[in-house]
Amino acid sequence: MKITTLKNPKVLLGKFFGILFWLLLFSLYFINQKPQNLVVFLDVGQGDATLIQNGNVQVLIDGGPDRSILYELPKYMPFFDRKIEYLVLTHPHEDHIKGFLYVLENYEVGQILYYPVCYENNSYKSLLQSGVNIREVFAGDSISLESLNINIIWPRVEKYNKGECIKPWNNNINNDSLVMEFEFLEKKYLLMGDSEKEVEKILLKEKIISNKYHVLKAGHHCSKTSSSETFLEFVSPTYVICSAGIKNKFGHPSSETLKTFDSLGSILSEYVVHS
Ligand SMILES: [Zn+2]
Repeated sequence: MKITTLKNPKVLLGKFFGILFWLLLFSLYFINQKPQNLVVFLDVGQGDATLIQNGNVQVLIDGGPDRSILYELPKYMPFFDRKIEYLVLTHPHEDHIKGFLYVLENYEVGQILYYPVCYENNSYKSLLQSGVNIREVFAGDSISLESLNINIIWPRVEKYNKGECIKPWNNNINNDSLVMEFEFLEKKYLLMGDSEKEVEKILLKEKIISNKYHVLKAGHHCSKTSSSETFLEFVSPTYVICSAGIKNKFGHPSSETLKTFDSLGSILSEYVVHS
């Protein structure tokens, strides 16, 4: 005959309160986790994703090529913060847009901002039909957070009729990337999206940019089609970020471009190169 004995109820109760205590402690830790103000170039492989966090407000500029964004965001966002206020799409190439679809499945999103360039792509279609509030932005617009203004300086448009898309200006939508500048945490940032030398030329010629930035997220993953010497000389960045995946099929970053960085004496303190 099998005899079962009841465990001492006091021991069971003790264990229960023990577990409860640890659960409470963990919850308190996460609730009190203060969001850090930061700008971080996320490790998303071959693509772009930049997180700007100001208190509890997040601006995510591009989402990278896949779901790696979902592993990156929790490293910087507070545990209980499941809302990203702004998703900003620089342009609809897969290495910038695809990750946004995963973000939309996993986070509440306040608003999507984008430049309405004409482009056929399923991810683009899904993003625009996601039901999230959408705002078209152009040079002259800005994203205003409490102590931070993200200024959009490219592309510009003469006239825009709501609901229409705008043809790429030189048949290369890299050059229709949103280009942004802002000052945050006492540093000046210039984010070039995937824009190339043609855009750099205009920004210089028309004196749209200033001549000193601490951080330059170089255009088009530091390919040789971006970062002309004249442009770099003028921008004179202290840090240059090349957001590219290690051993990617496009050969980013280009050794030629890296040589230009070196020759100009930029303090190239960090590459964002992902595996
Ligand atoms: Zn790209």
